[in-house]
Amino acid sequence: MKTSYHNHTPFCRHASGSPEEYARAAYEGGYEKFGFSDHTPYPFRKGYLPPTRMRIEELPDYVRTVLSLREEYRGKMQIFLGFETEYYPALWQDLLKIYAGYPIDYLLLGQHGFGMPEGDPGCINSFEKTDDAAKLVLFTDTMIEAIGTGKFSCVAHPDVLNYRGDDDLYREQARRLISAAMAKDLPLEVNMYGLADRRHYPNPLFWKEVSSLGAKVVLGRDAHAVRRVDPIDEYPAAEEFLRRFDLNLTEDLVLISPNG
Ligand SMILES: [Zn+2]
Ligand SMILES: [Zn+2]
Repeated sequence: MKTSYHNHTPFCRHASGSPEEYARAAYEGGYEKFGFSDHTPYPFRKGYLPPTRMRIEELPDYVRTVLSLREEYRGKMQIFLGFETEYYPALWQDLLKIYAGYPIDYLLLGQHGFGMPEGDPGCINSFEKTDDAAKLVLFTDTMIEAIGTGKFSCVAHPDVLNYRGDDDLYREQARRLISAAMAKDLPLEVNMYGLADRRHYPNPLFWKEVSSLGAKVVLGRDAHAVRRVDPIDEYPAAEEFLRRFDLNLTEDLVLISPNG
């Protein structure tokens, strides 16, 4: 079965193409199940307006757009309503209250920042290079706590932290994170965008540990443009990556609603 659950829309201010075009590309690509998981809005404090995120007041429009596409494709392709969501403990309960008003099918855990919510000077950007052991441990602790909430269906780019320090510590922390995901039967995503864009993830050190522990793996397109909904030119490299680490690929996700 051809599925894809990691897809963005222009609501996040850094993706191109319309949701209608994404859905059409998915249908033409032969997907049976297609999920929109745009970057979540968050009830940030002190009126902080995130430059690369949907705003809270745009959420109803995003939901309406996805649900109307679901109707349009009914019987041809299943469309799901999701979000890629950071786990910010300080704002988590407030976010869940907002989610409760909408028929959300699933959340991907996408931890682009940690320590404090985005907009706070204490927020650590996961993409910034670091060799600080304390940051690696805090990132891992945060991810494990997020997984423990039971609200997520998949861990997007679990290796997004750009850690350049001690390899042994990295492997040890990777194993903690992978084991936590396995305990909840959550798949870990090999991120095709990172692979195609030659980012610091997927990180071979991380996926070697995934392979040795035998965790479930999914391939995330992480489409921020219509041409990346079904990036046929990128599949050979992704398949080579899966083979190289002998990863246990699973095609479908078990969707968990955050409101369940
Ligand atoms: Zn994005
Ligand atoms: Zn994403």
